[in-house]
Amino acid sequence: MPIHALSDEVSSAIAAGEVVERPSSIVKELIENSLDAAATTIQVQIKDGGKSLIEVADNGSGIPHREVALAVERYSTSKLDTIDDLRAIRTLGFRGEALASIASVSRMVLTTRPVAEQVGTRLQVAGGRVGEIEAAGTSEGTIVQVKDLFYNVPARKRFLKSDTTERGWISRLVTRYAMAYPERRFEFISDGRIKLQTSGNGDPIEVLAEVYGLEVAQQMIPIPKASSERITVSGFVGAPFVNRSNRREITLFVNGRWIQDLGLGSAVTQAYHTFLMVGRYPIALLAIEVPPETMDVNVHPAKAEIRFENPGLVFSIVQRAVRATLLGQSPIQPVSVEPIWSGGRLAQTFEGSDRVERTLEPAAQSTMGLPVLRPVGQVGATYLVAEGPDGVYLIDQHAAHERVLFDKLMAQVESEFPESQGLLQAETVELTEGEAELVESNLGVLESLGFAIESFGARAYRVRSVPAAVSNLSPERALRVVVEDFEEDEMPLAAEKEARLAARICKRAAIKAGQVLSLEEQRQLISDLEQSSSPRTCPHGRPTMVHLSVAALERQFGRRG
Ligand code: ADP
Ligand code: MG
Repeated sequence: MPIHALSDEVSSAIAAGEVVERPSSIVKELIENSLDAAATTIQVQIKDGGKSLIEVADNGSGIPHREVALAVERYSTSKLDTIDDLRAIRTLGFRGEALASIASVSRMVLTTRPVAEQVGTRLQVAGGRVGEIEAAGTSEGTIVQVKDLFYNVPARKRFLKSDTTERGWISRLVTRYAMAYPERRFEFISDGRIKLQTSGNGDPIEVLAEVYGLEVAQQMIPIPKASSERITVSGFVGAPFVNRSNRREITLFVNGRWIQDLGLGSAVTQAYHTFLMVGRYPIALLAIEVPPETMDVNVHPAKAEIRFENPGLVFSIVQRAVRATLLGQSPIQPVSVEPIWSGGRLAQTFEGSDRVERTLEPAAQSTMGLPVLRPVGQVGATYLVAEGPDGVYLIDQHAAHERVLFDKLMAQVESEFPESQGLLQAETVELTEGEAELVESNLGVLESLGFAIESFGARAYRVRSVPAAVSNLSPERALRVVVEDFEEDEMPLAAEKEARLAARICKRAAIKAGQVLSLEEQRQLISDLEQSSSPRTCPHGRPTMVHLSVAALERQFGRRG
């Protein structure tokens, strides 16, 4: 076959592959179009995971009759004119190819009416072939229906996952946009059932409650506004004890656009370092605003990736914002108290929502440090009871001591001369080949923690001193803790390495549950904890205490409504 230019139909179908990967990519493009059209109501309806129908209806600006045919042509857009515009994009769309791409791999019906026109316009396109343009009675706004996705590209159709999986992708996508745009009303209907509905009243907590449930929403901490920077971060980060086993609930928006950026995602997870256990991930919703001219969205047709002029700067601003929020307000885990008798309405306790509302303490109550606490006693040789100006605190003695030791150890790391406990008699520890390698490759870190270790034969080490904070551990145990079942990839960064090793050591050295403490020891532990800058979580992210406020007590005892 001689070289020849491909027909529009074929080249469009090829180009469409990059924009339309799966049903959720269509939903994304259509939602972004509705947002660009300043719609305040966006309704997404799908059937069979979007395979047989996707419909997005909005009450936005609509498309004038004479422009409708152009809207479905490739590289036709109302959002961009010159190269200079491309450098400072403020809209979500700009490539002018979404509608054309979608129409080339499905049967699409576009029905639209701008406020200035009396009658609407309807246009049908099938597999890229544009049909008749006709008048249509329709309300102000735009409805795009996409039927029989990939009916003309069977190879692509085969790559679609099950209806359930595709539905899941769409559902998460709509949910994210609904959370990021609380001032717009979103509705998501799948196979005739309403799956998500937001009010559009602008209250982000209300949307978070809709998505995650009231209990989680109340534990989302707002990121304080920092107005001085050119790059700003706003949104919510979850309290550490509401966490997930994957990164999926870290939602990032940059200039109003949902993006998936591994780098920025890890800026968030790193900010949670020591607040969360290894393998647990936070819930976060971040809206990052950067000057449009300092980033490039035009990396990929799907616009899910962006390049920043200065990625390191964005990374550190995000990390600092999240970290500062956590340090400032990490709430104490709310205590859930079952009332034994509540005014003759015992059954009510079992009605989920009622119970949740009653047992939650507002996260905003918590401040950075702890108030001065008075030790009352020990329960089950495991928990300390203390009284503060605002109620009762139940403290997990092991977790609390872990925190105290960890702070001491990390303070040592930061000081120039780590305080260590020299041993009268250096101890020799024999290790396996693999363990010896681990020690070898972490000698620097161990030294900065306060260990003095020297090689003593092929797989033997002589421990001459251990960190003072954990001097109750035998040198052998201290060293074994370091090498026991740890995987090297557990520690991506040098700075994290120290903290993670320290956390492991402190876990071993800390007072155990079941250990009886004298009142003096209790007093010491509580006052040490008061000194901590993160007294509410252990270095692994578990809570060190629960708080029962005076108000909660009064409610439980029926002294207050
Ligand atoms: P882009 O969004 O990149 O401009 P699209 O192919 O998605 O390209 O849309 C083409 C044009 O059609 C848009 O520039 C806009 O003028 C118009 N359009 C698409 N969807 C809508 C909508 N929901 N409301 C109003 N206008 C729309
Ligand atoms: Mg678009």
